[in-house]
Formats: sequence, structure tokens, C-alpha cells
Amino acid sequence: MPKQAAPPSTLFSFLDTTQASTEASLPRRHGTVQVHALSAGHFSLPEEQFVHPSSPSARSTVPSLCFLIQHIATEAGQTITTRIVFDLGLRRDISRYSEPIQRHVATRQPMTTEPDVVASLRAGGLTPDDIHYVVYSHVHWDHVGEPRDFPHSTFVVGHGSLGLLSGLSASGTLRGGHSFFEADLLDPSRTIELSDPTVVAETTVETSRSISPSSSPSSINFNVPWAALGDFPSVLDLFQDGSLFIVDAPGHLPGHINLLARASGDDDCGGGSGGRDKWVYLAGDACHDRRIMRKEREIGEWHDAHDHACCIHADRANAEATIERLRTLEGKGVEVIFAHDVEWENDERNRGRYFGAQGAGEP
Ligand SMILES: [Zn+2]
Repeated sequence: MPKQAAPPSTLFSFLDTTQASTEASLPRRHGTVQVHALSAGHFSLPEEQFVHPSSPSARSTVPSLCFLIQHIATEAGQTITTRIVFDLGLRRDISRYSEPIQRHVATRQPMTTEPDVVASLRAGGLTPDDIHYVVYSHVHWDHVGEPRDFPHSTFVVGHGSLGLLSGLSASGTLRGGHSFFEADLLDPSRTIELSDPTVVAETTVETSRSISPSSSPSSINFNVPWAALGDFPSVLDLFQDGSLFIVDAPGHLPGHINLLARASGDDDCGGGSGGRDKWVYLAGDACHDRRIMRKEREIGEWHDAHDHACCIHADRANAEATIERLRTLEGKGVEVIFAHDVEWENDERNRGRYFGAQGAGEP
């Protein structure tokens, strides 16, 4: 039966339909993943570039959070684990950023880059060689980390990201010192750029499942068609088992994508959900400050040296539409975590949700 506390909504209809149909006929389509946070540096933000109103001198120290997603499937008696890291955070050695980015980094001090994402994986006993995929929410400097540390992983970016990196799609709307990119960031032979999310299959996730019932729950597939899910026009059901979705989250930067994960209730990483599976939404830079989510502040704007109006979001109207979808999602009980979510980091209940933290990942 549907959860009695769930309000009627398209997303919860999906969740509840999934649970009901799983019991009835699709037992392999009730997947979960393990979700752990990875600390990957801290830096300082001038508030006036992020929220309005603000004091011109106010600055906040924020984390660059990354996440380890582990999908474990059993097939023919064999356990198949797929590991994904979502974002790589700050580069440990900031002198290895390109020169324009280094100039911008100077405006974000004080900054700490240890532990970086590699040290945070090591705390839980993993190395970069254990990571099959690195998925970037987007290609801003504070999310791309050091790809050279992951020489065997496949990198996944949203549609339009490669154009940004190559400089081909730089436009007048991308103003501000944060909009510099490194053309040589990624190895093309190990990089997947997702297809255009505005080209959506004429099915929802539910119906697309019913027409491909034989796909293996263990095989990740970044080439499935974009489909609608609840309030989201475009998502990819990566394992075709409802455990992990890439969500198109337009507004912040071309190619900005998020993850929606069904975290197993058997793990502490589910955030004390008491044994029930819990939905966690990893929001990247869809929003930078929880006060905007609570409507206590608006998105900030500033003027550059040429008196051009700048915004941290390349497309403010689309960013606001994305934030509104996240407000709705939170209202339905889905946990939303931003990359720079200092309130989440400061909440003591989340301490055990970092990979390698005492008790993290244990049943
Ligand atoms: Zn960003």
C-alpha cells in the first residue's frame, strides 16, 4: 500500500507504483544504491554574488561536497558492484588550475583542499581505481577536481559541457570570473557526453520500463532515452531498476545535471531512515544557499568591471524553475543536498554519512 503520509503527487505516485508493482510482478525493479558523502575541500564565497539582500562584506565558508554512489547487484550468483563518484570537488594543488582560474581562485580564499576526494575515498578503503564512473554535475572549477587522479574511470558530463570546455560555446551570458574552463580537462577516449535532454521519449519512466523488462539490473546505461519522471521533464534511469536517475537540472550552466538516488534503508548513509528506503537528491549548484530554498533570500546579482550584470546562474529564469521543482521535491520528503550545502555539513546527524565515518555503510 502507498505510504499513508504521502500527499498525492506525480512523483509519489511513481514511488508508490514502483513499490506496488515490484511486489506484484517486477521484483528486479526495486533497486537501491548506497550513498555516501565525500569531503573535497572548502572555500569562501562573497555572499553578494549568491544571495540578495546581503551585506557587501559578508563571506561564507562552504564545502565542495562530492558523493560516492555504489550500486550492488547479484546476478547468476555473482555480486556486481558499480561505483560512481558525483563531482570531484576542489583540486588539491590549486597551482595546477589554468591561469585564469587561478586568478578567480584568489578571490575565493581562504580555501582548504585537504582532504580532497581521493583522501576521502581512502578513508573508506577505496582508491580511484575502484571508481568506474565520475559524473560531473557541471564543469565549473570547484567541481572538476583533478581528473588525472582517476586514470581508469569513465567521465560523464551533461549535454553542452564539452562545448564549454573547448571554448566553442562561450557566450555573453556566461559573465563573471567563475566562467573559465580547461580545454584539456578530460580525455576524450574516456568521456561520455549525455544526449540532449530536451529530446524526450514519448513515455514516462514507468512505461519505458514496461517495454524493456529484460534489461539487466546490474548494467549501467547512459544511452537510455530521456523520459519524464514526476515534475522532472527529463531523467535517465541509469540501471533501469529505479535506483539512480540522472536529472536534467537546467539554469546554472549548460549541461548541469543532478542525481536522484533511492538509498537503501539498511545503510546508515540513508540518514537514519529507520530501515525504510530513502530518496536523496544531489543538487550540485542548482542552489547555493538554503535561505533561497526557504524564500528568505533571492538569487544575487553583481556587476563586473565593465558594468555588465552578472549572475552565478547562466540562465536565471531556468535556475529559478529548477529551484522551484526542488522545493516541491523537498516538500514530498525527498532529501535535497547541494554541493556547497554548509547547513547540511554542519548538521551533526550527517557526520556518519561520510564514506569511512564510523558506522557508515555498515548494515
Ligand atoms: Zn557552479
